Amino acid sequence: MSGASALGSDAFRVALTFDAEHPDRPSKPGVEGRLLDKLARDGVRATFFIQGRWAEAYPSIARRVADEGHTIGSHSHYHARMNLLSTAGLRSDIAAADEAIRDATGVDPKPWFRCPFGAGSADARVQRAVTDGGYRHVGWDVVGEDWPIERTGADVEAAVVGGCLAHGDRAVVLLHAWPDRTEAALDGIVRRLREAGARFVGLDELPIDEIPTLPLWARSASAVE
Ligand SMILES: [Zn+2]
Repeated sequence: MSGASALGSDAFRVALTFDAEHPDRPSKPGVEGRLLDKLARDGVRATFFIQGRWAEAYPSIARRVADEGHTIGSHSHYHARMNLLSTAGLRSDIAAADEAIRDATGVDPKPWFRCPFGAGSADARVQRAVTDGGYRHVGWDVVGEDWPIERTGADVEAAVVGGCLAHGDRAVVLLHAWPDRTEAALDGIVRRLREAGARFVGLDELPIDEIPTLPLWARSASAVE
């Protein structure tokens, strides 16, 4: 048996993280608010990586994320692949997101930062700009794969539950705040992981040095070299 089954319930922490951003494919409106409703109802703390321009467009929902006690991070301003930006562009994008997120939420998103698509997460130049901006990059251990339109809520639920049970304590889960399949998956994720002894935490409840800096796909031996 692997992972969580061997651990006491106190030692099975799951950090759900939702990237809140302008969707890059068709989505139903209002998912973010309904996710927040479910998290509040079930007493689940999570982390939201907020895109600066999304916070400018939806300040009231961004504010609600903060007011309901979730950890707030930055997901850049323009949601570009950050390895394609110039060094000056990186710095201005990170600073613009910082200001937009603080204006909307009243919360400083530092030190939590996630590069869009994880692009640049293993790039020294990108990460120097992230670090110089006061941030630490956050990758993930488990992928909900909630963005492809052909995926169902059941698919996402199975990926998250199975991935967290296999990983065990301190599983950082990548989800998004706009897909309706994420909304459909959330109840089952919470119920089944709690039945397995999980406690849902914000990233600020985990030892920072034990939070992955890289996406799962960048952690193979070849990618790290
Ligand atoms: Zn994103």
